[in-house]
Amino acid sequence: MPRRLPLAVPPAAGETVKSYLMRLATLHDVIYGELWIWVSTPIDGDPKRRIIVGQRLADATGYPPDHLAKALPELAPDTEWLHLRDSPQPACPRCSARHPGGAVMRLFPLHAYACRRHRYWLGPPDVGEDSYRRLDDLPVLLAAQRKHARLVHTWGPIPVFDALIHAFKISSVLWKRGPEETFGHSRWWHWDQRLDQLIPKKNSRNAFSHSRCYAAVYPEAVTIAGLLVRPIWRARATFPLGDPDTDHRWDFTCEFGRRLGLDDYYPEDQKHPVHLWADQHAPRPWLIPTTFPEHRVGSIDGVSPGPPVRALRKHHQAARYFTGKRHAANTLIYHQHPGAPVIETYYPRPGPYARQRMRLAAEAAQER
Ligand SMILES: [Zn+2]
Repeated sequence: MPRRLPLAVPPAAGETVKSYLMRLATLHDVIYGELWIWVSTPIDGDPKRRIIVGQRLADATGYPPDHLAKALPELAPDTEWLHLRDSPQPACPRCSARHPGGAVMRLFPLHAYACRRHRYWLGPPDVGEDSYRRLDDLPVLLAAQRKHARLVHTWGPIPVFDALIHAFKISSVLWKRGPEETFGHSRWWHWDQRLDQLIPKKNSRNAFSHSRCYAAVYPEAVTIAGLLVRPIWRARATFPLGDPDTDHRWDFTCEFGRRLGLDDYYPEDQKHPVHLWADQHAPRPWLIPTTFPEHRVGSIDGVSPGPPVRALRKHHQAARYFTGKRHAANTLIYHQHPGAPVIETYYPRPGPYARQRMRLAAEAAQER
C-alpha cells in the first residue's frame, strides 16, 4: 500500500466508514479488506475486532481528521448516536450523485423519511428497497416530512420518535379494523389509495417493501404524532376511560379524531388502539431508540460481513404474504420499525397471531 491514496475522494455527508472505504477501494482498485486493516487497529489486542483510526484514514486520504469527522459520524467524538438511525441505508441518489465509486451508505437522522429537495421517499431502512421511489405523484408525503421536521425542532428527536412509532402502530391497527373505523370523511381512505400507488397491484411481489407500507400512512402518522408528543395531551390521556369527574380521555380521543377528519370521535371499545396507547404508554417515559454502535459490537468493521440472509428471507416471506391479500396493516403491526424495540401492546390477542407474537418476542429477547 502507498502512504497516500492518489485520488482525492471526499466522504459524503453522514456516510459510514465502511461505505467510504468501499468506494475508495473500488476507485483505487485495491482490496477492501487490506484498506480496512491499513486504517484500523485491533480492539484490546483481539485481531478479529478492529476499530477505525481517524488519523490513519486522514493519512491515507489526505483530508485532515476534523474534515473527515464532519462527514463521517463514526469519526466525530461528539456524534449523538441516539439521534441517528441504528442501521445505514443508501443515501438519496441525487444528494450523493457527485460521489463516485459505488452506492453511498449513510446514517440518517431518526426523522429522515423523505428527501424534500429531490422528492424521494427514503423511509426507514429496508431490505426490500432496491432504489428509492420518486414522490412527484405524492406531494403529501413531502409536506408530511416538513411537518415532521418542525415537530422535531419543537419537541426534540427522541420524544417525536416515540410518538411516531406509536402513531404508526395505532394507524396500522385502525387500518386493520377496517370499514367500521373508516367511515365518513376520515383520511383513512387515503391509505389504500396510496398503497396502490406505492405498490401497484400488478407488481405486488417485486414492489413490496415495509418502507412503502409506512409511506402509505406516514402523513396521518405524523399528524397523530403531533398529538401524542404534547405533554398536555399525554397528561389528559392518562385519565381513566369513563372517569365521572373529568372528560379528559374523551377530550383526547375527540382531538385524535379531529386530526383524522372525524367529528366527535369517542371509541368505547377499551381495546381501541388509542385507549391502549393512553393506558399503557402515555404515562411511561419515551422509548429510547437503539443505536448504530450497539449493532457494531463484535463485527469486524461495524457492519455485518455477508449479505443479510435472515433479513432477506423475512422480506421475501413478508412479500409473499402481502401479494396474496395485500394486508399492509398486518404487515405493519408485526413489523419492528428499525431502531424501535418490539411493542406488543397493539398485537391482537388472543388469536391466530399467537405464534407470530411468540416468535417476535423470542427474537427480541435474543437480540438483547
Ligand atoms: Zn436528495
